[in-house]
Parts: sequence; C-alpha cells; structure tokens
Amino acid sequence: MTIHTLLDLRRPIAGAIVALATVVSATPLSAQTLNLYTSREPGLIQPLIDAFAKSTGIKVNSIFVTAGLAERVAAEGTKSPADVLMSVDIGNVMDLVEKGLAEPVQSAVLEKAIPAHLRGAKGEWFALSLRARVLYAAKDSPLTSFTYEQLASPQYKGKVCIRAGQHPYNVALVAAYLAHHGEAETEAWLRGVKANLGRKATGGDRDVARDIMGGICDIGIANSYYVGLMRGGAGGPDQLKWGAAIKVILPTFAGGGTQVNISGASVAKNAPNRAAAIRFLEYLVSDDAQKIYAEANFEYPVKAGAAIHPLIAALGQLKTDPLPLTDIARHRATASKLVEKVGFDN
Ligand code: FE
Repeated sequence: MTIHTLLDLRRPIAGAIVALATVVSATPLSAQTLNLYTSREPGLIQPLIDAFAKSTGIKVNSIFVTAGLAERVAAEGTKSPADVLMSVDIGNVMDLVEKGLAEPVQSAVLEKAIPAHLRGAKGEWFALSLRARVLYAAKDSPLTSFTYEQLASPQYKGKVCIRAGQHPYNVALVAAYLAHHGEAETEAWLRGVKANLGRKATGGDRDVARDIMGGICDIGIANSYYVGLMRGGAGGPDQLKWGAAIKVILPTFAGGGTQVNISGASVAKNAPNRAAAIRFLEYLVSDDAQKIYAEANFEYPVKAGAAIHPLIAALGQLKTDPLPLTDIARHRATASKLVEKVGFDN
C-alpha cells in the first residue's frame, strides 16, 4: 500500500470518528447505563434487559438483591447507584416507599398503562405484573363461583387447605379483607376459616393442589401462577398430576373483585440516571415487554390488552379488586396481628 492510498483511506475514517464523537456527546454519558436493583430472579428479566438495550442503547446493570433491598438502598444513602428498584409483593414495594427510598415520577405512559389502584398516587411505585389469590377446588367440584367471605362458611368445615396465615401472600389477603370489612368482621372471618381447616395452615401453595388430590381438602386458596407452573410441567410429573386434579375459580370479595398482589418497581430517590430509569419502566409496560415479563412466571400483565399466557388465560377473565393497593397495604400490620390473635397457624 502506497502513502497516497493510505491518505485516501484516512479521510473517511476521520469523518466517521467525528460523526461518532458527535453522537456520543449528544447523549449524556449518564443516560447510557442504568442500575437495576431487583429481588426478582435475574433470569426472569434478562430477556427484557437485552431487548431494552437493543432498542435504546441503554445498558442495564442488574444487581440481584435476594433480601433486604430497602436496607441496602437506605445504607447506601445519597451515594446509592440504584436507579430502578424492583421487587415482589406489595409489602416490599411499600417498604421502599415508606422508608423514603422511592422518587415520585410523572409519566403519561405509565399512567395510561397501569390502572390507578395498582400504582402509587404520586407515582412512587408501579405494578408491573399481577398474581391473583385464587380458589383451587377438586376437579369434580360443582362450584362455578366463589367469594372470599365463603371460606368461613360452616359448610366447608374440615375441607379447607391453605398455607401459613403469616405468609406474606395471606397477610396481603387478610389486609384486603380488612379494607373491605373492618377489624371485627375480619377477626370473625379468620376464626371461621381456621375452624374449616382440613389440616394445619402450612406448606406451600402447590401443596393445596396436592392435598386436594389426596382427598385431605376440597378447596383451598393459592396463587394463580402456580397453576401455570404445575400444568406447564416446570415442576415435574407429580406437579402435573396436582395441576390436573384441580379446577380453578377466580374468587371475589362480595361486591368487589379478585384479590391481587404484584411485582412492581419504583424510581430510586437518589437515582443518578432518572430519565433512563423512567424510560425503562415505560418500556416494561409496552405490549411486547408485558407479555415477556408476565409470561416468565405465569403472571397477569398489569396492562389491559397485553397477551396472557394460555394456561393463565384459561382460568377466566380477571377482574381485579378496585380498592387501591396502597390503602390495602396499610392494613398489613393489623392483618398479621389478627392472624396471631386467632392462632391461625397453631
Ligand atoms: Fe410464590
């Protein structure tokens, strides 16, 4: 290669370098990475992180925090690199809000996609997916509808299976009951459910299906996504049988809707990359992302109209209870106290 051809080659390369430098300087450096603190399994969200990076050029560092998300962010204080805080269960989401670790954000995209009762009134938190607390019944049960209130009905004496009352899933259910009926009625209901137990309140949600198959109980309460996990075969051949042994009904509160819990996210109070954080949340409520996000754990998308996994869509049309989840969450402490008071788990 002669000197002359080298000089010819240099010109377009130099031009390209100038063009690249322009692109880089036009985008603030801080907008190019995003720190996601999540208590969700990284595998569940990795496909979304990859798709987000591909469409926006924003790289997401996901930091998996198995426990103590709020404590960690609080300890990091104003120097915290966290931009987005993602967790499961309204209790954990509200813990971040109540400790002042979440920054209210306004986004027309998020407000349009997420019903008002499933996000903070000031944009402090947003539900991204839903899991319903549903009724599992024996396959041949004549039931076609059910209310949570009916769980205490004497006709189900010795026929109800459920996990521990102090488990966060049931504390959230009792908190919702409190929001509907107040303390005295909730206590009476809890005593009624306790009297109906076919076995000690223990084990996991899938054990409800197992024990219905085994004839220990006729009905029980468990999360909707376990139906997908059992019937989809992810849990192995035994769980396939448990999943096939039950029918599923979406119960409601009398005059209300089905009790749901959430996975959700907030923008962190001290987020160094606030704009990118909002952009990521907005991406997560797009139709495509909602489908991937919800299907990863057989959940319901929070956005109406987003595709639902066929195993979950088959359970029927979900009508979420309309009471604001923020209000329900405030009853958690009383819920736990009542569970203790009636000796539900003894
Ligand atoms: Fe679970």
